Amino acid sequence: MSRCAALLVLATASACVVPRPEHHVAPELSTWVPAQNDSILVAGKRFHVGAPVVLWTDPPNYDAYSTKPRFSGVPEPSGLRYEPGRVRRVTRENPNFVTAPASGEPDARTEPQKQRRIVVSEEVLVEVASSDLEALRGVVDQFVLHYDVCGVSQTCFRVLHDERELSVQFLLDLDGTIYQTLDARETSWHATKSNPRSIGIEIANIGAYPMGVAPALDTWYAEDIGGPYVTIPARLGDGGVRTRGFVGRPARPERIVGSIQGDLLQQYDFTREQYESLVKLTAALCRAFPRIEPDAPRDEEGRVQDRVLSDGEWREFRGILGHYHVQANKADPGPAFDWERYLAAVRARLGEIPASP
Ligand SMILES: [Zn+2]
Repeated sequence: MSRCAALLVLATASACVVPRPEHHVAPELSTWVPAQNDSILVAGKRFHVGAPVVLWTDPPNYDAYSTKPRFSGVPEPSGLRYEPGRVRRVTRENPNFVTAPASGEPDARTEPQKQRRIVVSEEVLVEVASSDLEALRGVVDQFVLHYDVCGVSQTCFRVLHDERELSVQFLLDLDGTIYQTLDARETSWHATKSNPRSIGIEIANIGAYPMGVAPALDTWYAEDIGGPYVTIPARLGDGGVRTRGFVGRPARPERIVGSIQGDLLQQYDFTREQYESLVKLTAALCRAFPRIEPDAPRDEEGRVQDRVLSDGEWREFRGILGHYHVQANKADPGPAFDWERYLAAVRARLGEIPASP
C-alpha cells in the first residue's frame, strides 16, 4: 500500500499564493456517466481506454470525493482524502513549470485538515484550473504503479478510503476491471512527493515477501492442474470482483523472485487480465498527458532500475514509475511486475490509437 503524503501547498508572506477553495464538490454527474464503461475522465473529458472502467458515480461507488467511509457505518464526515486540482510551481528565475517540490518537505501526511502550509521563498504557487486540460498537461508527468497488499480492489478501497483516509485515482482488480475514484485532474494521496505531478494506480495483488515462509502467499494462492490461482479468503466472500466466478491466475505460474532496494523478494505475478487493462489504461494516460513517457527509469545497463531514484533523478524523470522508485521504504509493484513486457505492450498500443485532440 502506499504510505502516502499529501505534498503540501506552500505559502509565505512574500510568495504569491492563489487562494484555493477549502472544499470541492464532485463535478456535475449528469454529464459524466459514460455511454460505454470503457473510458476514463480527465478534466471532465472522456478518454477511451478500451478496457472495463467503473467510475466512482457507478456501483459499487468507490468514490474518493466522498468524505464519509464507504463501508463502515455512517459516522460524521471526516474530511477530504485528496487535494482538489493541481498546483504548479514557478520560480521568479524560471517562469516555466517546476513540478518537483523542494526536497526536505514533509514526506508524511498528518491530519487531513492540516494540508497546506510550509514555506519556501522565491516560489510562486499557481493553482491550475481543473477544467484546463492544457494546463494540467503541463503538470502531470508521472504514472505511479502500486500493488495493494489487499488482494482485491474492494478491500483496497476500504483500507485506503475508510481507514487510512488516502486516495488514488485508479484501482485495478484481479479481473482487469479498472475503478476510477477521482477525475485524473485531482491530486490524490498515494506517493508522497510524486502526488502533485502524478496519477496513481493500486493493482490488486497480495504483495512481495522476503524469501522463506510467506503465509500470505500460501493463503492467497492454491494450485490445480492449470497452475496457481488466487483463492480469496472466505471472510471476504467473492471479494467484490465484478466478473462473477472469476478465477485469477498469475500471468506466469512460478513464484517470481527478484531484488528491490537490494532485498530479495518473492511474489506471484499479476493476472493476464490486469496486464491487458493496465496496458490500455497506460496508453490512454500517455495520450491524455503527453509528458508521461511510455518508459520506466533505467540503470546504466538499460534495465528498469530496481531501486529508489535519487532526488535529482526523480526530479528529471517523466514517465512510468513503481512506488519503489519514489520511496526507499517501498517495494511495490514488486519483483513479479513484468516491466519489459508491459512497456513494450504500451508502446505497441500507442501505435494503434490516434493522438488525442
Ligand atoms: Zn504503494
